[in-house]
Amino acid sequence: MIKIKKRKILLLPGDGIGPEVVNEVKKIIEWFNKKKSLDFEIEEDLVGGVSYEKHKKPITDEVFYKALESEAIILGAVGGPKWDTLEFSKRPERALLKLRKELKLFANLRPAICFKQLVDASSLKPEIVSGLDIMIVRELTGGIYFGEPRGIKPIENGERKGINTHVYSSNEIIRVAKVAFELAQKRNKKVTSCDKSNVMEAGILWREEVQKVKDEEYPNIELSHMLADNCAMQLLRKPKQFDVIVTDNLFGDILSDEAAMLTGSLGLLPSASLGAKDKNGMYEPVHGSAPDIAGTGKANPIATILSFAMALKYSLDLDKEADNLEQAVQKVLDDGLRTQDILSKGKKEVSTSQMGDAIISKLK
Ligand code: NAD
Repeated sequence: MIKIKKRKILLLPGDGIGPEVVNEVKKIIEWFNKKKSLDFEIEEDLVGGVSYEKHKKPITDEVFYKALESEAIILGAVGGPKWDTLEFSKRPERALLKLRKELKLFANLRPAICFKQLVDASSLKPEIVSGLDIMIVRELTGGIYFGEPRGIKPIENGERKGINTHVYSSNEIIRVAKVAFELAQKRNKKVTSCDKSNVMEAGILWREEVQKVKDEEYPNIELSHMLADNCAMQLLRKPKQFDVIVTDNLFGDILSDEAAMLTGSLGLLPSASLGAKDKNGMYEPVHGSAPDIAGTGKANPIATILSFAMALKYSLDLDKEADNLEQAVQKVLDDGLRTQDILSKGKKEVSTSQMGDAIISKLK
């Protein structure tokens, strides 16, 4: 059999249910190595609260350098009540911010797909969400979460003021717009760009730069601009009008959570964070460490497994393998297997590892 070159994958399971769900991905990677002669090289290390317990830091330099050298990072989740009172710089979440910032992962991709088998899990009417397939592209390293000046400062009369700065440069807008247009090329060729150009100068620049990228490089893509508040409304009213949505860090944070909920369960939602040239992508489920069910075998591993499918597609150039994995997930849902978070009448409840095994059994 012909062997292809080694692809380095770093697994960072993290806290709570993180290790349980990432373990299912590990089994899938091992299946690909064994059955498809894909030479994935897996490394595994600590991040988040478990790293703090051992090293007094949420991520060590050593792990950070391993991340830099990997083609794809699969992260479970970080955090939990045990670490909630730590000072800001030691909190588990700081590890995520450091990875995103230092690896320059500027584009966050969050698909919102409503599986036909799970249409009843959505809080919206089936006809509104059935067949939904949206991709939200959120700018991840700029805007108000990083802008300077920032802080809380004393002012007159013993009062204080909180300051954050919403700032974008042309280049930051152009590079994330290109990610959205490239994705749309492979989908339905429609991009909706969301801003608040009616009240923010940074929003006016956002709109102008996105339009310029479309006019100069993507004439075949249908681009529309929408105010972010209207987009929030349209996502509930008529979500299937969207194909790819591109927006800034702040609005993307909110709109992607809203779109996610159209699909029903947190346990099904993958995400990808990409940098320049799609290298060093970080892939993680949207959900957190779910301390309430950690260790019970109840966690749904599908979000993390679909995150790995995104890694196959966007960082490892293995589209066929990604499709194979996505179809395996569909087949298991067709068979009526469900973890407790998506269980409904007449379906069979399975544990985290049984769900992983069932998906592996459907791989071709
Ligand atoms: P959460 O996503 O961990 O859990 C919310 C609810 O959804 C819980 O009832 C949980 O049991 C359920 N749930 C989540 N994932 C599930 C899965 N795969 N299968 C079945 N049920 C699932 O959010 P939270 O409770 O607000 O946060 C818990 C901890 O996770 C906090 O410390 C928070 O800071 C952290 N967190 C981390 C990330 C991350 O690592 N990216 C994201 C969000 C929250």
